[in-house]
Amino acid sequence: MTAKTEPSAAGSPFDDLAVTVQVAEPLAGHTWLGIGGPAHYFCEPISVEALATVVARCHERGISVRIIGGGSNILAPTEGLDAMVIRLSAPAFCGIDVEGQSVRAGAGAKLVHLVSATVQAGLSGLEDLVGIPGTVGGGLVGNAAAHGSNLGQRIHSVTVMQPDGTTDQRPRDTLAFSSGWSSLDGSIVLNARFDLDADTPERLTKRMQKQWIVERAEQPSGTRTVAVMFKDPVGTTAESLIVQAGCRDLCVGGASVYKPHANYLVAEVGCASGDVRSLIERVRTTVRTQLGVELSPRIQVW
Ligand SMILES: Cc1cc2nc3c(=O)[nH]c(=O)nc-3n(C[C@H](O)[C@H](O)[C@H](O)COP(=O)(O)OP(=O)(O)OC[C@H]3O[C@@H](n4cnc5c(N)ncnc54)[C@H](O)[C@@H]3O)c2cc1C
Repeated sequence: MTAKTEPSAAGSPFDDLAVTVQVAEPLAGHTWLGIGGPAHYFCEPISVEALATVVARCHERGISVRIIGGGSNILAPTEGLDAMVIRLSAPAFCGIDVEGQSVRAGAGAKLVHLVSATVQAGLSGLEDLVGIPGTVGGGLVGNAAAHGSNLGQRIHSVTVMQPDGTTDQRPRDTLAFSSGWSSLDGSIVLNARFDLDADTPERLTKRMQKQWIVERAEQPSGTRTVAVMFKDPVGTTAESLIVQAGCRDLCVGGASVYKPHANYLVAEVGCASGDVRSLIERVRTTVRTQLGVELSPRIQVW
């Protein structure tokens, strides 16, 4: 761990709050790569009010806060993390409500549940995103995208929590989304409203099933300990550049390029976060040297 946060004399700085806070929770079990040492503090609040008290206390005490969604785009350090890691997994953060041609989804809702709820309701606009792992919050922060569509395209507004625990609604015109990035990075996303188009559930189901088959064929199968390494540069794919640069067989320690889909890396059991960081850096340097293209990492390194 880096700069260590000392618990107060009475115990942890959260002891007087009516919330359950775990100390030294291993992050490996919360990330797709299965990598990550202990988070100094870890909490799954049951309500917005409970979240607000924890966030405000962290702000008062100078404890940094990280939000974890599905953990499909995070590299957590093997040495552990000196922070409060918060997972919005309680029902209060996972609701999906359809109102006419609009849908409101909690940040902790799975993206796959949001997509299927909109298709069932006969609402078009998110069906291309079927098969992307993770949550609505993680998807918004990294602007999850597939088959020419992205999550930011249909956003109406997003509710975020400020460091002092107050909430704020951000309308579309105050937000920015680009490839693998959004201006929500660094905020705590609570929920979002999307504006969609009317269509028939039958037509949307067919389209969703087609995209699902394509998405599955493009993803590694038989292992869950994988991550996407780089964003696609404009006009090409990171995968084709990695193959062209001869990086398909690269490995560092327990981390290796996933040969059938070279923009993924796969981690062996016991792989250290340093191996993953080194592999990503080696691929990046080789592509730059061989092809003169600077790849930008997709995975969030904590
Ligand atoms: C097999 C596989 C296939 C993938 N396919 C695609 C694909 O087709 N398209 C694509 O775009 N991506 C893809 N990804 C990457 C990843 O699934 C997406 O980026 C996904 O949207 C991440 O969501 P998550 O909930 O898992 O986020 P996490 O990995 O948990 O977090 C990612 C970032 O978002 C932040 N975050 C999460 N929730 C919140 C919140 N509520 N408030 C504030 N910050 C938050 C975290 O702090 C972190 O910085 C794939 C990944 C894998 C492993």
